[in-house]
Amino acid sequence: MAQRKPIVAGNWKMNGSVELVSEIGSAINECKNEQVDIIIFPPAPLLLKVVEFGISVGTQTVSEFNSGAFTGELSAELAKQLGATHTLVGHSERRIIFGESNESVADKFAKAQENGLIPILCVGETEQQRDAQETEMVVAEQINAVISKLGIAALLNSVLAYEPVWAIGTGKTATPEQAQAVHKFIRDMLSKQSEHVGDTLQILYGGSVNDKNSKSLFIQPDIDGGLIGGASLKADAFVSICNSAL
Ligand code: PEP
Repeated sequence: MAQRKPIVAGNWKMNGSVELVSEIGSAINECKNEQVDIIIFPPAPLLLKVVEFGISVGTQTVSEFNSGAFTGELSAELAKQLGATHTLVGHSERRIIFGESNESVADKFAKAQENGLIPILCVGETEQQRDAQETEMVVAEQINAVISKLGIAALLNSVLAYEPVWAIGTGKTATPEQAQAVHKFIRDMLSKQSEHVGDTLQILYGGSVNDKNSKSLFIQPDIDGGLIGGASLKADAFVSICNSAL
């Protein structure tokens, strides 16, 4: 079995400030460790500020287009030029609030890779879908949209984040067993198409992870770290979550 390096990613959403970059940047630089990759996803205007701290940084979305008359959109090429290494694609807030479909998320995934960014593909079911036992179907459809467009090998240069929508920003974390079951389902599903992808793909858990529950989630065999929202805005909590992935 492959040794998968854990990742702890902080999604700041539309929060934070220049001062917060300094506070969290310094805290991360004190605790940085070769054994965990830490990536911050700040609002785009703060990208360069994070780069100045020598911390890996990504965008929270990218446009599926190269350039042109797309007011307000975020270019993968320019993000790369500014030092971004990763981008989130298909975060549930983008899917639900901004109407992104599985197809447009697949296009964004492709555009990110074309420009040398590593996409973190976010997938996950709503509470109604979980109650209707549709979790596996929904997650499979979200992942298969990317595979149908780009082929299974495209996942080799990407990361997945399982984020149940009902757990995001709600304080209702999936139990380690619930999260592990979906991660294992995803890994088994991918292994049927490519054992190598199934074995090596890093799959993060996201949804109300905090410094109290992170360890119990991260020790699950198919969970390779976390995508952290609210708790990534507090230096102490975020550092302690990063340390719990060691
Ligand atoms: C997220 O936004 O990806 C997230 C997981 O948020 P939170 O940790 O606040 O639930």
